[in-house]
Amino acid sequence: ATPTSIMVGTGRGAEMGVLFRKGEALQLLKDAAVVAVDKTGTLTEGKPALTDLELAEGFERGAVLAAVAAVEERSEHPIARAIVEAAAAGGLELPAITGFESVTGFGVRAEADGVAVEIGADRYMSKLGLDVTAFADTAARLGDEGKSPLYAAIGGKLAAIVAVADPVKEETPAAIAALHELGLKVAMITGDNKRTADAIARQLGIDEVVAEVLPEGKVEAVKALKGEYGKLAFVGDGINDAPALAEADVGIAIGTGTDIAIEAADVVLMSGSLKGVPNAIALSQATIRNIK
Ligand code: ADP
Ligand code: MG
Repeated sequence: ATPTSIMVGTGRGAEMGVLFRKGEALQLLKDAAVVAVDKTGTLTEGKPALTDLELAEGFERGAVLAAVAAVEERSEHPIARAIVEAAAAGGLELPAITGFESVTGFGVRAEADGVAVEIGADRYMSKLGLDVTAFADTAARLGDEGKSPLYAAIGGKLAAIVAVADPVKEETPAAIAALHELGLKVAMITGDNKRTADAIARQLGIDEVVAEVLPEGKVEAVKALKGEYGKLAFVGDGINDAPALAEADVGIAIGTGTDIAIEAADVVLMSGSLKGVPNAIALSQATIRNIK
């Protein structure tokens, strides 16, 4: 492409809220065969709400929710806010917390009034040597409903299964349909539960799902998808998306996301809307076509 056509294309992108931080990205995007997308905060609002809480025998709802919320008050994860809000809505008094720890990719732990409390994914419970099969049917049902199941352990015993649901952003279905119309495949990469991710992917018509990915695994997932499809654009918003944004042929950050993601990206969607992705690809195709 000529410098002039790149300048024109970059200007047109800016008008539609798509910031090309590198002119190269405008040229590369037209060759993308697959768009890999982070789930939480990118396809979804990133604002989950607590939807379900089922207790193990011998545990009481208010006490479990208060203990778990007290621990989650120390966490920055969107899941944490959902749980803290549910406890606040119930007017629960929270116990005192000591020894808070975030176990990246697994969950969080602390002592609440001196009693150990752990909350996180099923793999966290496995790590702790706790058997979650008593909740297998519930977990499967929650996952099929697109909700994310989490487990709480109190005093070294499995206490409850909790679910949070994160609504899909309003513009997500149209953005995915537009990518398909442009002839691209769409893949989802997430740390969330496989069953939950599959349910959301089915609902959105997403072609491939890579789920239960640990934070450092996103780069590996991007490499594998590149090998499978060819040129890849990755779209993400979080701190843990930065390495994947750098690894992609074109990294696209949601403008409302974290600064670290934005800095790692070649393209920034200023409006925060995922529709900027097909718009940017269509613009790249048009820009390059025009100068031929
Ligand atoms: P993601 O951005 O996909 O949620 P993370 O690596 O942040 O990826 O988290 C992976 C998984 O670990 C989550 O899906 C959840 O099951 C569990 N987890 C992480 N942080 C928390 C937390 N504060 N409370 C409960 N579970 C958590
Ligand atoms: Mg995210």
